[in-house]
Parts: sequence; C-alpha cells; structure tokens
Amino acid sequence: MMLDGKMYADRINALPPYLFAAIDELKAEKLKQAINIIDLSIGDPDQPTPEHVVEALCDAVQDPSTHQYPSYEGMPSFREAVARWYDKRFDIKLDPEDEVLTLIGSKEGIAHLPLALINRGNIALVPDPAYPVYKIGTILADGVPHIMPLLAENGFKPNLDSIDAKIAKKAKLMFLNYPNNPTAAIADEKFFKEVVDFASDNDIIVCHDNAYSEVTYDGYRAPSFLQMKGAMEVGVEFHSLSKTYNMTGWRLGFAVGNAEILAGLGKVKTNVDSGVFRAVQMAGIAALKGPQDCAEKMRAVYRERRDVLIAGLKTLGMAVEQPKATFYVWAPVPHGHDSLDFSKLLLDKAGVVVTPGIGFGDYGEGYLRFALTKPVEQIKEAVGRMRELEI
Ligand SMILES: *Cc1c(COP(=O)(O)O)cnc(C)c1O
Repeated sequence: MMLDGKMYADRINALPPYLFAAIDELKAEKLKQAINIIDLSIGDPDQPTPEHVVEALCDAVQDPSTHQYPSYEGMPSFREAVARWYDKRFDIKLDPEDEVLTLIGSKEGIAHLPLALINRGNIALVPDPAYPVYKIGTILADGVPHIMPLLAENGFKPNLDSIDAKIAKKAKLMFLNYPNNPTAAIADEKFFKEVVDFASDNDIIVCHDNAYSEVTYDGYRAPSFLQMKGAMEVGVEFHSLSKTYNMTGWRLGFAVGNAEILAGLGKVKTNVDSGVFRAVQMAGIAALKGPQDCAEKMRAVYRERRDVLIAGLKTLGMAVEQPKATFYVWAPVPHGHDSLDFSKLLLDKAGVVVTPGIGFGDYGEGYLRFALTKPVEQIKEAVGRMRELEI
C-alpha cells in the first residue's frame, strides 16, 4: 500500500501550516556548531515547581490508592480547592460539584471544548494573533474559525462592533484570552461587560482563557471573566497551574463556570481520557491551598527580566510597551523586515531566538514575541548581541 500522506482526514489537511520549520532547522544547525544560542522563544517557565508542591506529590505517590484510575471530573477535594481559590482570588462562588472540571492542562480542555459545542460548519470567533489551540480545536471539530483581528489601536482587543451581524448571529462560540499571549495585552471590566452583552444578544458561548491571571506586575491584578454580571450564563473560564506554579510539565488545569457547558465538555472527556493522576491532583491542592508567596516570587523574577529587556530594546530604538502581565514582550519588527525574516536574521547573526508574530496568525505579522523565561544575564547578553547587529 502506498500511503503518500493521503490517508489523513480532511481536518488534518485543513490545519494551518507549521511556520517555524525554518527557524527550528537554523536553531538545530547553530546548536550543532556549538554556537551559544539564547532562546527567548519559549513560553515555558524556567523556574522549578515550588518545593512544597513537589513534596506533596512525593507523599501522594507513596499511597497506592492514588495509583488507580482517577474519577473523570477530578477529585472532589481538588475541585473544592479550585472553588476555594476562586472565591479567595476573585470573590466568585463556584459549586465544586458541577461548576469545576479538572483538566489535563488547560490546552486539553480548550482543544476539546469545540467537540462538545460545534457542529460541522458552525462558526467560532477566534482572535488573531492568538494561542493556536482556539483555531485548531475549532478545525478539528469541523467548525469554521472566523478571525477577530487584535489590533494595536484597539489595545489588542477585538472590536465587537466590527463583527458582521450575520456572522455574530451564526457564531456558536467565542475564544478570548486576557492577559493575552502573545500580545501581553490586558482587558478591563468594561470590555468583558461588552463581551457578556454581545454573547447574550447573539447566543454565543464565551470561552475565556485566563492562564496568565497571576503573572502580573506593577500592582495590576487581572480580573476573571466570570466576575461580570451574566458571565456565568454565557461562559466558561479556563485556568491552569502551569504558569502560576511553574507546573507546565505536570499537566493540570481546570475549567470553571456554566455547569451545562462544562457538562458537555465533561461528556467529551469521559469518552477520550480518564482524568488526571490523583497524586498530581493532590500536588495541585497543595499549590492552590498552600502559601502563595511562590507566586509573588515568580512575579518578581519576571518583572526584573521585563524591566531589563524593555530598557534594552528601547536603547536599540525599538518602540516597545511595558507589559502589565504575562511573561511576554510583543515588539514591533524594525522597518524593512517582516517577522519571519527578522527572526531568522536575529538567530543567524546574533544567536538570539524569538518567535515571529506571523506564527500566531496573519495579524501577528509585524511583531516579534520575546519570552522572559531566561535569566537576566542572558537577556542582557541578547540585547548586547542585537546592538552589535546595528539594526
Ligand atoms: C501556557 C498557556 C496555557 C496553559 O496551557 P496548559 O495546557 O495548562 O499547560 C493556556 N493558554 C495560553 C494562552 C497559554 O499561553
């Protein structure tokens, strides 16, 4: 049998192309030549998981009762810890029974949500630039992503008034993410209130991704979408322990909000996965219920790096804004370049890896994403190397 790649389903062929192949190749080549690369493209914390969380896992894993299949929706004690954390942090009362669902990382839940809500050809409103999972999850459910451009002039928030009324009426789902990856933009309550009204008027389910709610600076505290009046009727919020507690490898997240929507997602999950290892959930309880000074430390580490990078990029003449949240800096590409060729140039001539904005969608063109997941010394070194490039 000759497969020739022709065995793939249309939905796989419909996935957007992978744009980083050229950069990956160049990076591999440089590493082979033992060239010292500074990789500022990685959206993954470099700091370890807090010790008390690791200890909780070690204790839990010694108990054989954690070794069997967990419950699909998550341990009641984990869901209670989530509800308690939401109450303390956002003053939102959640019923751990049906308004909290444990996820194998929030990516898993976001990717599966369209399977519960989208029929073939249904529209999902997807921001651009964005975390790719919103668009890809829609395509994998045979849905049609409709792009909401995130423009600098609108503070990288979608302009809801510019969405065609017919599209809005037909749309089933809307994805949002503030604090935002990759633009580092934040949303205020006024915007979230507009979203609730828009969603109620058009019968749209809102999926808000709040992965970076705890990665904030300068006294800014990010809101929860669910704090808005009426939000619980139209939406769910996805959250994760990945960024708050440096736990990306552990695969632990959760969805909260409207019970009916969560039940749909739960139904998909019951049939495709078997939940999160109980010992990992117990470590998650330790993270959510334990001392929160680890999150404060995390913020201080990124803030220092942010300040160093912003100051450095400004000395190079780059027009960057100081983000109030996330561990990204979204910087305009210097004139005369596009995001991909400038990223290649940076890697080739300076050994600095950044993510070209085009990788997050067409409206990401013209920007570069720097991740603050490397120590200050490396960030300084990266800026120094960029200075020698005389861009
Ligand atoms: C990192 C990140 C997540 C978290 O993913 P997990 O699967 O929970 O590790 C979700 N959304 C965005 C936008 C992210 O950048």
